[in-house]
Amino acid sequence: MALTQDQLAEIAAHRDATAPTRRATVPALEALLYEAMPVLDHGFVRVVDYMGDDGAVVQAARVSYGRGTRKTTEDSGLIRYLMRHRHSTPFEMCEIKFHVKLPIFVARQWIRHRMANVNEYSARYSIMDREFYIPAPENLAAQSSVNRQGRGEVLQGQEAEDVLRILRDDASQTYDHYAAMLNEDGADPSRQGLARELARMNLTLNTYTQWYWKSDLHNLLNFLSLRADSHAQYEIRVYADAMLKAVEAWVPQTYAAFTDYRMGAVTLSAGMLAVVKRLLAGEPVEQQASGLSKREWTELMTSLGR
Ligand SMILES: Cc1cc2nc3c(=O)[nH]c(=O)nc-3n(C[C@H](O)[C@H](O)[C@H](O)COP(=O)(O)OP(=O)(O)OC[C@H]3O[C@@H](n4cnc5c(N)ncnc54)[C@H](O)[C@@H]3O)c2cc1C
Repeated sequence: MALTQDQLAEIAAHRDATAPTRRATVPALEALLYEAMPVLDHGFVRVVDYMGDDGAVVQAARVSYGRGTRKTTEDSGLIRYLMRHRHSTPFEMCEIKFHVKLPIFVARQWIRHRMANVNEYSARYSIMDREFYIPAPENLAAQSSVNRQGRGEVLQGQEAEDVLRILRDDASQTYDHYAAMLNEDGADPSRQGLARELARMNLTLNTYTQWYWKSDLHNLLNFLSLRADSHAQYEIRVYADAMLKAVEAWVPQTYAAFTDYRMGAVTLSAGMLAVVKRLLAGEPVEQQASGLSKREWTELMTSLGR
């Protein structure tokens, strides 16, 4: 995470300033506010603003005049009920804004989540930094032979070294060409320099970009349920994991309900439930006669730890 001294000083100054407010604030999230949580080799996530807290979810659900909160146990019971029954709108009353620095190929996956407000660093207006994501050796995996969207064993020895060298060399070379085409400050007086909006097309997808990303709590939880999941690619999952820490600090009761009913839960189809009922009744059930496909069967058995 390469933050400059100036950027660190700006963050520190922002963290030192306080202002009185009547609005709900959350001390645990205030402690994190503006701090950059490092992700990957040069990336980060930092919370730059938020609105609401667990109380705001309860307040909206009860349509109260005041804070709407009762005893912590009652509030937490209500939040669990809302989460369990997918009553989503009370969670939309809370909002959070992140500043994220991430490789372009991760940004491409992330931007598919449409229910958010995004403003990205403009590579038409500004020059991209010379920063590329190079995986740590333990994350340099082979293509999975069983899952076309997944990874297999970690590459070893000469092959790993070759891949890392190719990634570094290609990114460096294309960046050198990018800088040469831009010809900033007239480095070569015989050339005009290509427009920034065109020169950038030559950069590799592991080049870092940045954006501000704002979402309400409901849609943030949808994002996290998909991207903090083991099926998500490692490089986006680590961002989701960092954001989960912010959610835990911000809305601990909602976070607890979310980890219970969404992250730790399994959805069973009617056919799967029927199999579970037969298993509980002590009936021997085989995949072929279960009505489930091989894949469904394997997923169910894995979920049941069988
Ligand atoms: C592991 C994984 C693998 C994936 N693989 C691929 C892939 O191979 N190819 C690919 O293209 N994508 C892929 N995706 C992206 C995926 O299909 C979704 O586009 C992405 O996760 C966004 O999810 P979302 O629609 O729930 O989120 P959001 O876009 O934030 O939407 C949230 C909800 O808002 C509603 N909504 C949003 N926009 C609209 C709209 N315009 N109209 C109606 N309702 C709307 C929907 O109810 C939606 O569920 C993958 C995602 C994951 C997690």
